[in-house]
Amino acid sequence: LLTDDGLPVPTIFAEMTALAARTGAINLGQGFPDEDGPQEVLEAARAAIAGGRNQYPPGRGEPELLAAIAEHQSRWYGIELDADTQVLVTAGATEALAATVLALVDGPDDEVVVFEPYYDAYAALVALSGARLVGVPLRWPDFQPDLDELAAAITDRTRIILVNDPHNPTGTIFSRETIDEIVRLAHRHDAVIVTDEVYEHLTFDAPHVPIATLPGAAGRTLSISSAGKTFSVTGWKVGWVTGPAELVRAVLAVKQWLTYVNAGPFQLAVAAGLRLPDGVFSGIADRLRAGRDLLGAGLREAGFAVSTPAGSYFTVADAAPLGASDGDAFCRELPDRAGVVAIPLTAFASPAHRTEYATLVRFAACKRPDVLAEASARLARAF
Ligand code: PMP
Ligand code: GLN
Repeated sequence: LLTDDGLPVPTIFAEMTALAARTGAINLGQGFPDEDGPQEVLEAARAAIAGGRNQYPPGRGEPELLAAIAEHQSRWYGIELDADTQVLVTAGATEALAATVLALVDGPDDEVVVFEPYYDAYAALVALSGARLVGVPLRWPDFQPDLDELAAAITDRTRIILVNDPHNPTGTIFSRETIDEIVRLAHRHDAVIVTDEVYEHLTFDAPHVPIATLPGAAGRTLSISSAGKTFSVTGWKVGWVTGPAELVRAVLAVKQWLTYVNAGPFQLAVAAGLRLPDGVFSGIADRLRAGRDLLGAGLREAGFAVSTPAGSYFTVADAAPLGASDGDAFCRELPDRAGVVAIPLTAFASPAHRTEYATLVRFAACKRPDVLAEASARLARAF
C-alpha cells in the first residue's frame, strides 16, 4: 500500500486522471460519466439539504432509503427483504465491500476468491483483511471463467466468493452456467457469495440476473450495489448491502466503526431515484449502449481488436494488432501519441496472472457522443 518513500501508492484511477489533466488528453481511463444523472434525483438532493435533513442519519441508513432499496429489489428482481434487518446503507459500494470483507474473514488461513482482472480495490481490501486472494482468470475475448479452474480455486478455506457482475473492467456478464456453478461450489464449501452489482442497470442485451435470485443462493449471498452508476452520480458515494439478517448485522458491526453513517441528504435523493419509473433506468443504459457502439467502432477503425461488452461502463481492446507488446507502456505513451487516456488491464491483475493481460487496454464509454467521436478520431489519426 506504500511506495518505497513511504507515500500511499496512487490508485491507477488517480494516476491516469492526473495524467489526463497534465496532458490535456481525453480521459477514457477513470470510469465516471461526463453528464449528471436524472434531474429528479439532483433536485431531491437540493430539497433534502434545503429541508434541513443535514444531521447524522441512523447507523443503518435513512429509513426512506432502506425502504426504497427493499422496494427496488422486489420490483426488479422479486427479492423480498425486511428493510429493518436485511438492508444496510454504506459509503458507496466501496465501504460495503470493505466492511463485508473485514467482517467475514479472519486472517491468513481464510481465502477470498476473485475473478481476474478485478476492480483494484478488491486486492487492496483483501490485503487489509489479512486474508489470501485467490484469482480465477477471465480470458479474452469473452471473459467467462473456465469452470474447472473455478472449481479448483474454491476449497474449504474459501470464506468469500466475490463476484462482480456485470464485470469491471471487461464488461462481461457471467453466463447462467457460471453463476449456477458459483452457487453450487459455495454450498459445497460453505462459502459466502458477495456480489458487486454496481452496474446492475447498465446492461445492453438482457436484464441483470442477481445471483441472490438463484435457487438456494439467498441464504448465503450478500448483494452490494451503489447509486453512483445507476444515477450517474459517482461522487455521491451512496451504496448498500442486502442479504440475510445475520450477515448484514456482521457487516454493520464493522461499518459503524469505518464511517459510522454517511451522506444524509444524498441518501434521501437516492431513495427518490430508486422509485423513478423504469424508463429513467433504461434511458441511462440506452445512452451507454450508444456510447459503447460508438467507441467500439472507433477502436476497430483505429486498428484495435475489440471485445464487445454486455454491460458496464467499459470496453476492453487489444493493442497487439497495433504492434504493442506492453499495455502499460502503451497507455503511458497514449496521451502524447493520441491525446487519449486509457488503463492497462495489468493494473487489475495479480502478479501471477498479469502476463495474460499484457496487451489489453480498458476504455471508458460513459462519455458524451461528441467526446467519444473526438477520441475515436484522435486514435484513428495516431495509428
Ligand atoms: N465496484 C466496482 C466494480 C466499481 O467499478 C466501482 C467503481 N465505481 C466500485 C465498486 C465502487 O463504487 P462506489 O463508488 O459506489 O464506492
Ligand atoms: N469505478 C471507476 C473505474 O473503475 C472509478 C473508481 C475509482 O476512481 N476508484 O474506473
